[in-house]
This record gives sequence, C-alpha cells and structure tokens, in this order.
Amino acid sequence: MKIRTRRSFLKGSLAALLPMPALAQAQRRVIVVGGGFAGATCARELKRLVPNARVMLVEPNPTFTACPFSNGVITGLRPLRAQQFNYEGLGGLGISLVYLSATKVDPQARSITLSDGTALPYDRLVLAPGVDFRWGSPTGYDEAASARMPHAWKAGEQTLLLRRQLEAMEDGGLVAISAPPNPMRCPTGVYERASLIAFYLKARKPRSKVIILDAKDSFPLQRQFQSAWQQLYPGLLEWVPLSNDGKVVSVELATNTLVTDFTQHKAAVANVIPPQKAGAIAAMAGVADRTGWCPIDPATFESPLQKNIHVIGDAAISGAMAKSAFAANAQGKACAAAVALLLADETPAPGKLINTCYSLVAPDYGISIVGVYQPVNGQYVDVEGAGGTSPLEAPRETRAAEANYAAAWFRTITAEVFG
Ligand SMILES: Cc1cc2nc3c(=O)[nH]c(=O)nc-3n(C[C@H](O)[C@H](O)[C@H](O)COP(=O)(O)OP(=O)(O)OC[C@H]3O[C@@H](n4cnc5c(N)ncnc54)[C@H](O)[C@@H]3O)c2cc1C
Repeated sequence: MKIRTRRSFLKGSLAALLPMPALAQAQRRVIVVGGGFAGATCARELKRLVPNARVMLVEPNPTFTACPFSNGVITGLRPLRAQQFNYEGLGGLGISLVYLSATKVDPQARSITLSDGTALPYDRLVLAPGVDFRWGSPTGYDEAASARMPHAWKAGEQTLLLRRQLEAMEDGGLVAISAPPNPMRCPTGVYERASLIAFYLKARKPRSKVIILDAKDSFPLQRQFQSAWQQLYPGLLEWVPLSNDGKVVSVELATNTLVTDFTQHKAAVANVIPPQKAGAIAAMAGVADRTGWCPIDPATFESPLQKNIHVIGDAAISGAMAKSAFAANAQGKACAAAVALLLADETPAPGKLINTCYSLVAPDYGISIVGVYQPVNGQYVDVEGAGGTSPLEAPRETRAAEANYAAAWFRTITAEVFG
C-alpha cells in the first residue's frame, strides 16, 4: 500500500505532547473513497476543519481527469491535459493518499479493504465513487462495445477515442448520440456535446449531421438550446425525443448501428451514453437502494442504510440537485462540516446548497441554469424563486460573457479542489 503524508513522521512525538481531548481527536480516522470533485473537496475541507483528524483519500488513479469541459476535448478545442490534475496539493496538507481501489466495506467492523488486501479501520467513511454504467443497456452495449462506440462519459481514453473517430469521419457522415434516462451525470452535458460536435462539423465537415436519440422527452435549458441550434446549426443537429421513437433499445456493433423501436440509425460515429447508477463500491457497502443510487440524510449526507457512512457527489440521491461537479463540490464541503461536528459529538443542522451548470452551445456561446436547494422531508428541493436560467433572448455579448464565466468557474473549482 502506498501512503504518502508529510505529517505522518510527527505522529508519535505529537501524541506525547497533546492534552487528552486533542489526543482523542487526533486518533479519529476518516477515510474518503474517491478523489473526484466530491471526495477531494471533502478530504481537503475535513483536514482544514479538524487538523488533528487522520484523513485518508483512497483513489486508484494518481491523475484525475475532469469531465467538465471534456466536450471541448472531443471537438478539438482543448487538449486532454487541460483536464488533468494530481493530488500533490492534498498530500501537502497532510492528507494520506492511497492510490488503490476500495474493494469491500464492513460497516459493522467499520473497516474498508483495499485492492491490495489491506484492511483499514475508520470512525467515519465518506463514499464519493461517482457513477458506474448499467452495462447491457441498450442491448448489446457492454464494456467491450465501448471500445467501438465510446461513451466518453468518464473522461480520459474514452474522450480521446471519440475525438479520433470524429476526426477520422468523412464529410457527409452521421454522428449519433444515444442519451440515457434520468437520473444521470450532468443532464445538460449531452446537449452541450451535440452542440460542440455541430460546431466542429459546421467548420470541418458541413455535409455531416449530428442526431441525439433520447430516452427522455425534455431536458434542462431545452428552449435555450433549441433556439441556439436554430440560429447556429440549422439542418445540422436533430433531437429525437422518447415520444418520437428516440430511445435506443439495442446496438449493432458490426454495422455501427443504433436501433430504436422503429428505426435503424447507421452511424459513422456512434456515441452511446449508457444508463447509470452509483459507483459499485456503494452497493458493496450496502448504501445503495433498489434504484442503484444512495439515499442520504441531507443534514449530514450520512446513509440511512448504514451508520457512519456518508455518500456525496453523483452517487448520492440529492433530490432536485443535478449530478454535477458544482454540486459535488458543495456537497463535499457540507459533508465535511457535518462530519467535523459529529466527530465532536455535536449535531449538524441542515443548510441550503447552490448549484450552477454552464453549457457551451459554441465556444463563445454560454448558457446556464442555477438552483438553490433546501431539505424538505429529507430531500433537497428547489427554493422557489431563488434559481433561474439564462434568458431565452439575449445579445451575443451576453452569451460570450457566460462562456467566459464557465471557463472562470472551471479554473476556480479545479484550483480550489486540486491546487
Ligand atoms: C461530458 C461531461 C460534461 C460535464 N460538464 C460539467 C459541467 O460543466 N459542470 C459541472 O458542474 N459538472 C459537469 N459534469 C458532471 C461532473 O463531471 C460530475 O458530476 C462530477 O465529476 C461528480 O463528481 P464525483 O466526485 O461524484 O465523481 P467523479 O468526479 O467521477 O469522481 C469519482 C472518483 O471516485 C473514484 N472511485 C470510484 N470507485 C472507487 C473505489 N472503489 N475506490 C476508490 N476510488 C474510487 C474514481 O476513480 C473517481 O476519481 C460533466 C460530466 C460529463 C460527463
């Protein structure tokens, strides 16, 4: 097991010097599983709030590849390295970094097992594993199929594969995107992706077309997207909703075809985004319910199914909050504050959380949706009148300004979480 911590050498000498209450706190151990936007934020914030706690971050990949802005990588607007971050900043704060997967959780014994077999005890466990795919849906779409028909819904090699396929495509080809039902990671990301692909095709392969085959009848910012598509990409981009035979039921790999109930869409490039569920470790820990996602107490993010285990980010059922990096970051902070209080035997009070999702319809054309949420009957619900969307009609300068806000948000959040 590789564990790096700058402070670990101090442990013995500090223990001898600390008064009893601080010593008790020094022995508290919090393990965070998953070093994405939710987990990395939570580990950082916990270490800040409870400096004497032993905070450990378990994550198999030393390099994190971020999804927000990865649609720009697919369409050649930015390099993949602009999406990549490491955990050195967190290690420098005294957080123990373990570059392994968690493979098992024993809630009764309060311990997790790592992929090298090591068992580690915890006082509180925070699970932030993001999403996993429901392979086999659409029929024929499994992990092997994603090497032919990329999902690119976890950033990295899949992002580059989709980019290479777009680049290799001849002018006149069809790019077909299969969009899953809710709940899903980043509900607006599909339509941003289709938009930026249309932007790419318009400039490079104008006889081509992008089609979204959707398992849904509506999506956030729909009117803003559709109005922009009419303006920017007439004839280039088509959205086919569920009620118009949009749902892809199976795939035919040999012919690169997406099949709906009544139509076969033979694609030059097929991007299949499968239905999703909480990352697998959540089910192993017994914190996922029959939906495949994890219910939480909104005041603490603790699981009602297993004591002392908290779930944050995409894996959690957080009511009206979208599954976004912005939300994951907010939840990471709220959960850390709650865990800090629980470690001190105090009771956290529920608070309000904010989410903002930006989408690019073109590199200089941004739109956004904002929500403010509060717990009601154990669920985060919209605070009436507190959120909103970009206006339907707006001058291009407004859209350009929003595209700049989006870029500034990404710079700020990644610096805050991984800096
Ligand atoms: C194309 C696209 C565009 C997007 N654009 C935006 C955007 O503009 N704005 C926005 O706010 N959001 C956006 N999102 C959504 C955003 O990426 C996710 O909501 C966010 O990453 C969720 O954070 P998370 O920490 O829950 O999961 P992740 O960021 O996926 O992190 C989960 C981590 O857990 C690790 N892990 C999993 N299982 C284990 C295990 N067993 N042991 C140890 N580690 C484990 C994984 O390796 C991973 O690093 C976009 C998503 C996509 C796909």
